[in-house]
Formats: sequence, structure tokens, C-alpha cells
Amino acid sequence: MRVRMVEEQIISRGITDTDVIKALKNVPRHAFVPSELQQFAYEDRPLPIGYNQTISQPYIVAYMTELLNLSPKDKVLEIGTGSGYQAAILAEVAKEVYTIEIVKPLGTQATHTLDSLGYENVYCKIGDGYHGWEEHQPYDAIMLTAAPESIPEPLINQLKEGGSIIAPIKTGFHQQLIIYHKKNGKLRSKQLIAVRFVPFTREANKQK
Ligand code: SAH
Repeated sequence: MRVRMVEEQIISRGITDTDVIKALKNVPRHAFVPSELQQFAYEDRPLPIGYNQTISQPYIVAYMTELLNLSPKDKVLEIGTGSGYQAAILAEVAKEVYTIEIVKPLGTQATHTLDSLGYENVYCKIGDGYHGWEEHQPYDAIMLTAAPESIPEPLINQLKEGGSIIAPIKTGFHQQLIIYHKKNGKLRSKQLIAVRFVPFTREANKQK
């Protein structure tokens, strides 16, 4: 099912980066979704993971990863661990992944899933991703998987010169996926596609 997912949803829609394709083939997406939804794990859609949050659609995961143009030497920061699936994909193509989740039970669950699959290059933290993860900066790339209205200032400061940030940005009722490149300390942005992510919040959603 996973091989078919990669052929029908990833390659046929224009993802060409061979490392990203390999990562989508390797990572068992079903291990990141609640057991009652495992039968849908390779379908072309996001799935609920509890606490009003979702695991992103496989194509969007591949698309965002490809656009960061990562190398095996890179250190990446992800905001919004959720299920941990995107972190695992990043861990397949980069050297180290630092990921932050604001909803404690989701962060704990994701840590267990990533540990049980043997990902030793993913570091999880529970907290508000607004502040980034100062201790391990600077990052070659930063990915947000929840939508703020603008990129938090601490994240810009923790990005290397020449590095990229990819994020869904909320404008009114809509969201645009935007890629930013840091040049001379400032971000230059390029709009990509319309997307739908969960909101970036400053306080954890406590409802299961
Ligand atoms: N990358 C995830 C997708 C998770 S959805 C995956 O592959 O499954 C986005 C996640 O961002 C949610 O779990 C939500 O709780 C989290 N989030 C929202 N605002 C946040 C913030 N300020 N800091 C950290 N995580 C946040």
C-alpha cells in the first residue's frame, strides 16, 4: 500500500527528489496514526490524531520536505510534532531533527513512536514553538506544520544565513504555503499553494 501511495500520490504529482521519495517509501505512516484509523493510513488525506489535530496528507509532507532541499549534513527545526510522521520523514533526509509540540500527550506519544521505530536523530520537546529551540540553533531549515499569521521572530533569529523556512501562513480565512530564504539577516518570501493546516496556537488544546 505504501509503494502504491508513493507512486500514485507522490511521484505522479511531480515530486522528483529521490531522497524524499525514498523517505516516503521507508517510513511506516500507519505507525503514526491511531490504531482504529490504520486501515486509512495510505489514503490521500490528512487523518485525525486526537486533540483536534491531524497528521498531514502524504503529498503535502513530501512537497514541503522537497522544497527545503535538505542535505544529510543539515539540522532542521520542526514546529508542530503532532504524530511525529513529518519528523521521521525529515530524519530520513537530514542529519538531525529538533521538533516541538505544544500538546503534551501528542508530544509524548510521538516520542514513543519515533523511539520504537529507532529514530535516534530526532529530538522532541514539549512547549510553545514560538520561541524555537535556542540551545541547538542555528538551523539550516525550519518547517512549521501549524499556521501562524506571520513567522515568529525567534525562529528567524535561529535560522542560518542562507537557510529556508517553509510554513502555512494564515491570511483571513485562507492559508498560503510560503517558503522564505534568509539573506543578510532578512527573509525573502515566495508564495506556493493554498493549504489547510491546524492553527498555530500559544496555548495547548486540552480537549481530546
Ligand atoms: N507534523 C505533524 C502535523 C501535526 S498538526 C505530523 O506529521 O503529524 C500541527 C501540530 O502543531 C499540532 O499537533 C498542534 O498541537 C501543534 N502546534 C500548534 N501550535 C503550536 C505551537 N505554538 N508550538 C508547538 N506546536 C504547536
